[in-house]
Amino acid sequence: MIPLAQPDIGEEEIRLVNEVLRSGWLSMGPKVIEFEKLFAKYMGTKHAIAINSGTSGLHLCIKSLNISKGDEVITSPFSFIASSNCIMFEGGTPVFVDIDPDTLNLDAKQIEDAITENTKAILPVHVFGHPCEMDAIMDIAEEHDLAVVEDACEAIGAEYKGKKAGTFGNASVFAFYPNKQITTGEGAMIVTDDDHIAKLCKSMRNQGRSEDAEWLNHIMLGYNYRLDEMSCALGIGQLDRIDELLGKRSRVAEKYTKKLNGVDGIVTQYLSQDVKMSWFVYVVQVSQEIDRNEVMKYLREHDVSCRPYFTPIHLQPFYKETFGYKEGDFPICERVCESTIALPFYGNIDEQTIEEVCSVLKDALEIYKN
Ligand SMILES: *Cc1c(COP(=O)(O)O)cnc(C)c1O
Repeated sequence: MIPLAQPDIGEEEIRLVNEVLRSGWLSMGPKVIEFEKLFAKYMGTKHAIAINSGTSGLHLCIKSLNISKGDEVITSPFSFIASSNCIMFEGGTPVFVDIDPDTLNLDAKQIEDAITENTKAILPVHVFGHPCEMDAIMDIAEEHDLAVVEDACEAIGAEYKGKKAGTFGNASVFAFYPNKQITTGEGAMIVTDDDHIAKLCKSMRNQGRSEDAEWLNHIMLGYNYRLDEMSCALGIGQLDRIDELLGKRSRVAEKYTKKLNGVDGIVTQYLSQDVKMSWFVYVVQVSQEIDRNEVMKYLREHDVSCRPYFTPIHLQPFYKETFGYKEGDFPICERVCESTIALPFYGNIDEQTIEEVCSVLKDALEIYKN
């Protein structure tokens, strides 16, 4: 079976992790400090705070902005569930707007209609590593005095008008699960230029401790969201190769697009002229007259892993029950979700495997086209 994703771990990363294991210092040591420093440098932000998952990072950003019961945050229904759940952790309400059918990101033109007196923030998600329309989003945020938390979990190294995704809002989160562009196993990073947010996040990830005080001095409600030294060592090694890793993925995407562009029955990833994409997944959309699920079944029967990316957040059973969402509420998101197929995609996939995936996909489209 051709896998959907595969991490790219080099010998140097293995050496770095081994070094930590031999050192005996497995948490809260020099590696977390070094990883944060290097990450802040790469992003060009004042602070980077390592945490144990993207979900924890998003939670801390929401909490640092004081979002609580009754507050509304405008976000996208076309995302991984964590970008919306993090609002609910603090009793806030995610308010969805439909997506742009090209970029698949939340449609900036629909944000203003969703603003109420309870709106506190906008949480754009840079879906698949294609940055949102940040000019429009930041203008709206400024005009209505709203905070912006960027879910940049899929977008490390992506750029909007020459500026890195994740450096526009009050705070952002990048994630390093093994299917992401760089990995630490589990793990993630919050970045911000805001000293206050940074201080709160650092304290809350470590049980609400003050930075300089005694071990058992807790100044606020906190969590254990720390990232261990082995993960940070792996992250250091991966970040050192980031250009290589992103370059490989981008070349694989180009090869897929070259083979699939213009094929009847599918469309490939849209690329806005304003952005540099960081390729997280390779997703095609199947035309409405083709049964997407049959195509996926065919791919799997022919040893090609694939997955629908995403399923609408507002139609998850838990969201339907809590908020009363129903089918038809965000029609573009729903239509896109019914048409997407993520294909096997990783930096080290070889030419022959790409060719095989494309050829099985073309056969399936031919069979199921009417
Ligand atoms: C990966 C991802 C996250 C974070 O996931 P974790 O598994 O908690 O690290 C959040 N949002 C999006 C859009 C993601 O793709």
